[in-house]
Amino acid sequence: MSKVEDFLTKEEEQEIVEAISKAEKNTSGEIRVHIENHTEKPPLERAQEVFHFLGMDATVLRNGVLFYVGVADHAFAIIGDEGIDKAVENDFWDCTRDIVISNFKEKKYKEGLVAGILRAGERLEQYFPFTEGDKDELSNEISKG
Ligand code: CA
Ligand code: CA
Repeated sequence: MSKVEDFLTKEEEQEIVEAISKAEKNTSGEIRVHIENHTEKPPLERAQEVFHFLGMDATVLRNGVLFYVGVADHAFAIIGDEGIDKAVENDFWDCTRDIVISNFKEKKYKEGLVAGILRAGERLEQYFPFTEGDKDELSNEISKG
């Protein structure tokens, strides 16, 4: 159970993509999930790197959000772009992260990500509501490294 391919079933991946689509119906924020096996770097630092690699810092409102998972490392991090950091309190992501991690501890990976994504969407909605003509600026598909 350390391989990225074994982390989620195809059906579970689809549920996660659907959760992202659902969350993005209420907010202009753009949510992505990246899953990889291992990094030598601290998870937050690696998440920042992936964030830039995926071009997530190119949204108009700078409101991209990345859920980073390191399977073999048992690592999880969530980071938002500078538009979010400027608008919200420092502990903005704490409740979202707590939901994900408590599920992960019970090996409920899909449930944790889906719940975290929906919570992130609800929280983002307060600061970045969905507006008419919103574009899907970043793919909702899971990124795998
Ligand atoms: Ca959007
Ligand atoms: Ca999107």
